[in-house]
Amino acid sequence: PFTLEMGRIALAKMDQAVESHREYLTELDSAIGDADHGINMSRGFRKTMEKIQGAEHPDLGALFRDVAMVMMGSVGGASGPLYGTFFMKVSQKLAGKDQVELPQLAEALQEGLNGIVALGKAQVGDKTMVDTLVPALSTLAAEAEGDERSAWDKTVAAAEQGMTSTIPLVARKGRASYLGERSAGHQDPGATSTYLLLNCLRAAAL
Ligand code: ADP
Ligand code: MG
Ligand code: MG
Repeated sequence: PFTLEMGRIALAKMDQAVESHREYLTELDSAIGDADHGINMSRGFRKTMEKIQGAEHPDLGALFRDVAMVMMGSVGGASGPLYGTFFMKVSQKLAGKDQVELPQLAEALQEGLNGIVALGKAQVGDKTMVDTLVPALSTLAAEAEGDERSAWDKTVAAAEQGMTSTIPLVARKGRASYLGERSAGHQDPGATSTYLLLNCLRAAAL
């Protein structure tokens, strides 16, 4: 099962991954946005770690609720509210649970994605984080009843494909869409940070 302790480990890994890819994410955003995605994500996870370190969380819902509050409250731009909504929906699904089996976790993450879509209205092909999340989470849902390692490996592989699929796309949502055709040829920053986060979830779960 995915435990509260794994949730805490996943967040610590996300903080490290975002920190070590801070310049990379910002560089991606400088090509098709306003060069702040690494800064936004880094601020979000630094503040998340400050908030959760030393805090006692009764269950996974409470833990992810804290993440959601920080993302919504202190990360600006498009990604703050979008990731905030994601973690809030996940936390609602995991309320009162100190551990869940993989199919339940997959369902909670899918709720998170539904929240992102409800807020941002992006579909697959619009060159956003949704391009990473949709293939990754449908793979996770399809594989969740089987071997866990293989389920996570396939999920991260699908996430990576989703991430790189954004390169040739013309952006239809977010700042990158202001560039029109000129947004093609660059990997989407949010699709990239989402890939990094899913990779951390995998590492914590196994
Ligand atoms: P901002 O664009 O406001 O500076 P960030 O740079 O932190 O915010 O995040 C940009 C990322 O947010 C994009 O790369 C894209 O993946 C994601 N994004 C933007 N708009 C949407 C949307 N409507 N739906 C889903 N994701 C979006
Ligand atoms: Mg930006
Ligand atoms: Mg910005």
